[in-house]
Amino acid sequence: MKAADFTIIGGGIAGLATAIALEQKGFSTEIFEAAPEIRAAGAGISLAPNAALALRKLGLEKAVAEKGEPLSALSIRRANGRLITQADGLQIARKYGASHYAIHRGALHLILLTNLLRPAIHAGKRAVGVREKGKTAIVQFHDGAEHEARALIVADGIHSPIRRQLLPGSAPRYAGYTCWRAVVEFDGPMPVEATETWGPNGRFGIVPLKGKQIYWFACKAAPANDTRYKNFTVGDIHSLFKGYHAPIPEIIRQTSNSELLWNDIIDLKPIPEFAFGNTVLIGDAAHATTPNMGQGACQALEDAVILAEEAARHDNPEEAFRQFGKRRLARTHYVVKRSWALGRIAQAEHRLLGAMRDALFALAPASVTERQFDFLYDVDF
Ligand SMILES: Cc1cc2nc3c(=O)[nH]c(=O)nc-3n(C[C@H](O)[C@H](O)[C@H](O)COP(=O)(O)OP(=O)(O)OC[C@H]3O[C@@H](n4cnc5c(N)ncnc54)[C@H](O)[C@@H]3O)c2cc1C
Repeated sequence: MKAADFTIIGGGIAGLATAIALEQKGFSTEIFEAAPEIRAAGAGISLAPNAALALRKLGLEKAVAEKGEPLSALSIRRANGRLITQADGLQIARKYGASHYAIHRGALHLILLTNLLRPAIHAGKRAVGVREKGKTAIVQFHDGAEHEARALIVADGIHSPIRRQLLPGSAPRYAGYTCWRAVVEFDGPMPVEATETWGPNGRFGIVPLKGKQIYWFACKAAPANDTRYKNFTVGDIHSLFKGYHAPIPEIIRQTSNSELLWNDIIDLKPIPEFAFGNTVLIGDAAHATTPNMGQGACQALEDAVILAEEAARHDNPEEAFRQFGKRRLARTHYVVKRSWALGRIAQAEHRLLGAMRDALFALAPASVTERQFDFLYDVDF
């Protein structure tokens, strides 16, 4: 079989979107995925206007708009429901020319998968390392097989073994809080806005999806990999948040244990480089961030568009990857650092500190939030 122009490791959001973007520029791609089949693990996801603009570039915005839900407002509230701060989703959509969508991860993955023109996916292939051979990169897999790549795109997520080989110090770091998530078919009045509620027992987020589905997440300060929290049931989470405003306790009550996902929140401290000759890191493999700004997948979608642009602009992949790194490093570092800092603030569970934080956030001038939105949503493709 003729080698593809680009070999991609990982069939997550970054890998699939990049394959689509490269195909649209006339390149051939091949994806190697560790899982036995490509499917989305996770609950819901919010896609900010910068992601919607990237999806528009890929011709996928309409599909996401159909399967997802535009968010009319994003609010931060106190445990008693009082508003701390709010962003108007419609105003944001008008200003930046694109909506903020929420969608089930499964639906997003399906959109990406079905929009590959010539899917060449090898499932059950876990990459374990890479070595150079002249101008090619030889990818090594867990089963002893090897694959020779003319240009290698590493999109295998935060634990990427290839990244850790290229940058041995680049281990994920624990953010200090743990997270439960679920999507529930809600029997009750649907919330009209996405909310994040900050209180003494942690943070609780509600994101309305299509129809009667609600995606929720709960974050609590915790030691890393704590067995007690790992084994938390819906009942335990209900006990934590039963004093929070409606409909939080009811949403938890309507969730079943089988729908519950749990993971500690980790990210990747900014790394100095994404391009390594004919190998490039993208998505979470390059710049995994805590989810506090809801930007991880958004940045992965930006990566896809920009990598394909640079690939079309330069004859050799080394130069395309170098230029990609130049365009992506500062922006993704900003997201990682700001999201990390925001998590520290949002997760303050001490009552007095929490009250001070809420008051300061409520008083912050709108221009502060607007500057952040301008930076994130005025994206340069
Ligand atoms: C709790 C939580 C909430 C989040 N919410 C949002 C949100 O609302 N909005 C947003 O934009 N982002 C959000 N994110 C971030 C987002 O999920 C990630 O940034 C995004 O999924 C990254 O995509 P990726 O393709 O780079 O990596 P991944 O999603 O990790 O995909 C990597 C793929 O590579 C495969 N793989 C792994 N190892 C190997 C290997 N060795 N060889 C081959 N294949 C391999 C995996 O099976 C997977 O298919 C959230 C993250 C978390 C943890």
